[in-house]
Amino acid sequence: MDETKCPKCGAPLGEVVTTKSGKRLQRCSTGSWNQETHQTEGCDFVKWLPFEPETIDEKCPKCGAPLVMMMTRFNKKMKKCSTSKWDPKTKTASGCDYFEWVKPVVEQLDEECPKCGAKLVKMETATGKKMKKCSTGGWDKVNRIATGCDYIEWLK
Ligand SMILES: [Zn+2]
Ligand SMILES: [Zn+2]
Ligand SMILES: [Zn+2]
Repeated sequence: MDETKCPKCGAPLGEVVTTKSGKRLQRCSTGSWNQETHQTEGCDFVKWLPFEPETIDEKCPKCGAPLVMMMTRFNKKMKKCSTSKWDPKTKTASGCDYFEWVKPVVEQLDEECPKCGAKLVKMETATGKKMKKCSTGGWDKVNRIATGCDYIEWLK
């Protein structure tokens, strides 16, 4: 099968695009997504591309091999040891089993909270949603309550 052609209509596939959540896909070049009607016009073939593990500049704390950044099917990012392998035939993992979920990235902003005047921070949740929130806001894990200022603004 020709990987660059649409299996439905034989037209060439379009360019690889990355969605907001970091997934990569290729649409049939004769199809396009209409933002207004939320429907595909033309050929509706979409080829989802696997998230490519990316080697990052960090070492595995268990064995010292480089770590790779991966994304799960549920759009959660994790770092895992590059020596770990999954054998789909035997359904067994081999190599080092170290992995770590990637925590949301917090960026300090030079903006003030409209509620309390403290500085805002920009965060990205594990599912790739971005928001601005008040830097005084927090989560008390023991009592399961939000602490500090509760100002949140979701970003598109
Ligand atoms: Zn097509
Ligand atoms: Zn390791
Ligand atoms: Zn605030």
